[in-house]
This record gives sequence, structure tokens and C-alpha cells, in this order.
Amino acid sequence: METLCEHEIDRKACKIFLENLLSDIKKGKTEQRSVISQYMPTIGEDSLEAVAYFLSQTKDVFIFRDLDAKLGTLRIEPLPFISSFVFRITGYYDIKTHKIKVVDQSHPDIYHELFHAMSSYRVSQRELGCGFFQASKGIKEGLMLDEGYTDLLAYRYFHSPIFYHVGANLAQKIELMLTQDLMQVMYGLNDSESIYRFLSNNSTTISTEKFKILFDKIGYYKKIDRNIINIFNYLSDYLVEVYINYLSKQYQLGTLDRPQVIEFLDNFKRHFTEHVFADEDDEMYYCDSSEYRDINMKLSYSYFQKALLSKPKH
Ligand SMILES: [Zn+2]
Repeated sequence: METLCEHEIDRKACKIFLENLLSDIKKGKTEQRSVISQYMPTIGEDSLEAVAYFLSQTKDVFIFRDLDAKLGTLRIEPLPFISSFVFRITGYYDIKTHKIKVVDQSHPDIYHELFHAMSSYRVSQRELGCGFFQASKGIKEGLMLDEGYTDLLAYRYFHSPIFYHVGANLAQKIELMLTQDLMQVMYGLNDSESIYRFLSNNSTTISTEKFKILFDKIGYYKKIDRNIINIFNYLSDYLVEVYINYLSKQYQLGTLDRPQVIEFLDNFKRHFTEHVFADEDDEMYYCDSSEYRDINMKLSYSYFQKALLSKPKH
């Protein structure tokens, strides 16, 4: 298999910190509060349980950089109801001030914001980011990939609701190619570079740039419309082509055999529309469309074989 990145160094330091913290937390509820208060003096009583639960569920999976410092300075405050009503949000995380604001501190939405906060980094006011999002010298990149993947993680580990439906779906498609373990590590280490390298290695630099720009155009929407579906189709088709190229290379190298390729293609097909449609009728209507059928046809083994014939030998 292709080696995508080296992430072993940071893993150790973060793991030791979390193991110490968690072993203290496990000693009991009273101590849990005192241990967390000691590490996180700026977090109010109302959020302590949520933060402890967040850490217990994510400690073995994620490598969050400088976690102790992030926990020690994080602020969680109530979001005034009027702001949530005006902006139609239940919470947000501000990277610049490292502050979470949520309407209800015990609501599952807080975990989405905690993922943002724990995956954040700030080099300066002009160079900062979280997860797969980065802002550097006025250029912002990967916002929707980050929101989609953050939603997917909060849903996976804390059953939080999905808001960025298409973003979560496309992020999951990328994860299906890279594997869950690797993509989760990349998220904690803000390694979007490896994702884009993987995509362009299996397509072209220009098409990857276009993918990045269009992905950020999805945004947040209340109801899926034609424009969103068109972008979704374009980006899904691009990811299918990337996957077929990647699988062909692995097949030619002998690291994958026919049953494995079939299994991977079928798995990708099974998750193709996951999280996208809040409404079942919309999903049925979409699955009837010729665009969907055309893209889905590419996930068959016969298409893969045809694609293989047109590829140079590796
Ligand atoms: Zn978010």
C-alpha cells in the first residue's frame, strides 16, 4: 500500500498525556471534576462532564497536538438564545479566542465544537486552522471538508446530529479510500496536505484544485437543491475516478486481488448517498436520476477491468 504520511512522533506524547489524565478521571466522579478543573481551569462546571466524556471516547483514536495546552486555555460559555435565533446556530467555536459558545452545554452539539477546539492550531492571527481547515495569510481552504468530517466524527462517537449533509458524505468517501484510522489521525494533526497529495497522485493537480474550490461551495443548506446536487455529482464522480485509479495501481502492484477490489467497490457503493438526504423521497428521486446511475456504474468490477486496460503498467 502507498505510504501516505508519517505520524508516529506526536502520537506518543499525546497518548502519555491522555493516559495519565484518563487514569485519574477513572478514579471517580469527585476526582474527575477536580482533575479536570486542575487541567482546565477555564471550563465551567456545566461543561466538565461533556469534556471528560469527549476525552474518554477519543483518547485511543486521535492525536490532538498540544492537547494539554488546548485543554488548559479552552473557554466554554453559553450562547445567548437571541444570537442562536438570529444566526440559526446552536453553537460555534472561535479559533482566534479558543472559545466555544453553545446554547446548551449538555447538548450533543457540543461535541462537534470540541472536535474543532481539540484539532485547532494557531501560529499567528493570520495563520491558524482546525482539523482540515486552514487559513494562511488571507487564504482559507478546506472549510467544508473540515465541517463535514467534524460532523461525521461527532455523529460516529457521540451520536450528534449531522448538519453538513453533503460535506459529511464527501468526507466519508475520502475516508473510505484512506481508511478510518489514517484519516482520523490526519484530522488531529491537521494534515490536509496528505489528503490532497493522495487525490492528485490519483488524478491531476488541476482537477484536485477544482475539487477543493467546489467542495467549499457546498456550504450549509436547509434543503438540498439542484445546484447542490450538481456539485455533489461532480465531486462524487471525481472521487470515484480517484478511487478507481488508486485501486488499479494497487491491483497492478499485487497488493490487492480481485475479491478485495470487488469488496472495496461494493462498500463505496453502499455508502454513496449516506447522510446526504434528510428526506427519503428526495433520496429515491435522486437514485432514479441518470447522473447517479452513470456514476454508480463506474463502481462495477466490469468498469474497473475496462479502466485497468487503459492504464499504463506500474
Ligand atoms: Zn463546525
